[in-house]
Amino acid sequence: MSTINNRPLLLQGGSFFESEARTFVRGDVFCKNGIISALGDMEAPEGTLIVDCSGQFLIPGLIDCHVHISSSGDPAELTSGQRLPLARRAWHAAKHAYSTLQAGVTTVRDLGAADRLNVELSRAIEAGDLEGPRIIAAGMGVTMSGGHGHGFIAREADGADEVRKAVREEIREGATAIKLFASGGVLTPGVNPRSPAFTREELTAGVEEATKAFRTVAAHAQSTAGIKNAVAAGVTSIEHGVWMDEEALAMMIELGTYLVPTLTAPFHIAHGADNGIPTYAVEKGREVLEDHIKSYEQAIQAGVRIAMGTDQGTPLNRPGENAQETVRMADFGLSPEAALLASTAWAADLLSISEETGRLHVGLAADIVSLNEDPLSNVRCLAQPETIARVFRNGKAVSTTGGMI
Ligand SMILES: [Zn+2]
Repeated sequence: MSTINNRPLLLQGGSFFESEARTFVRGDVFCKNGIISALGDMEAPEGTLIVDCSGQFLIPGLIDCHVHISSSGDPAELTSGQRLPLARRAWHAAKHAYSTLQAGVTTVRDLGAADRLNVELSRAIEAGDLEGPRIIAAGMGVTMSGGHGHGFIAREADGADEVRKAVREEIREGATAIKLFASGGVLTPGVNPRSPAFTREELTAGVEEATKAFRTVAAHAQSTAGIKNAVAAGVTSIEHGVWMDEEALAMMIELGTYLVPTLTAPFHIAHGADNGIPTYAVEKGREVLEDHIKSYEQAIQAGVRIAMGTDQGTPLNRPGENAQETVRMADFGLSPEAALLASTAWAADLLSISEETGRLHVGLAADIVSLNEDPLSNVRCLAQPETIARVFRNGKAVSTTGGMI
């Protein structure tokens, strides 16, 4: 693994993605102390490490707004993985974080982990104990008694006061985002994704507490009523959004609510019968997939804000394969430019970190991925490890399968 110790860095000879122009611009990228400090052709000051990026395409590090990084995506984990001792799960989480970073994902939002492994993982990475992406961690999600995620990635709360208290406690434990469950879901046995979960009053209380502490709120919401309850309560993003109707879309546009569609999750679950995914989940996944795609297409047409999220950790949805979601978002309606923006700049906007990362702008973190191919001509290349030449997080090189400095 190579490191760059505060040495100025010049990525020379390539083209960089300009988010506003939605195109690649020929020019070098100069980074100092982990920050992008100049763009365009330039002479490198003495002592600069020059990296030849001739013919390469430089994009901002990808941002996945919905992961469960402590989970591997192994279907058996659903039934047995949670019983592994905490220490083993922590080792696994560290490994997943590293593979995620190697794949060019420099920031993730983790929307629920047993034992709040996401919070400590984030702290370990920031302290320099481990290499991984920047993690915005929700701690445990908050769900109603018996609701989706209970006993797994979420804690239970009932009534506005309990939801309020649960959100306060997650923030006390280090959560930097909040996850609320506004409907049932696919992977919890006996829970119907078409049923709403928390009431509007409960969701409003949770959003109020999160907002007071400057945390964004992600709502797991599949059913139409659940989506509307969450949007009306003021959540920042709707996760999944399987059954949106015209009214829900209009509400999202009015309030600026994001959709994080997570198309990859039901895709794998619906096609996973031979891979050990429990039958109840495969049946629910199939039911969801077609409507989910339709809903996503309608949201794009309506002009709803979109950001990329995989729901990595759901069955067969593995860490380091995150960019498959960018490809699916393009397959089902976004232009390659928009799919790339949804996976970088727009995702940073959703997570309220656009002053830190998400674009190749002077003053932002040097979170940069160099590609051997133009992703605007072939968006699929983002999901092909051999396309990724180099990954930098905060100006520090990460070893990838495609090449090292
Ligand atoms: Zn999830």
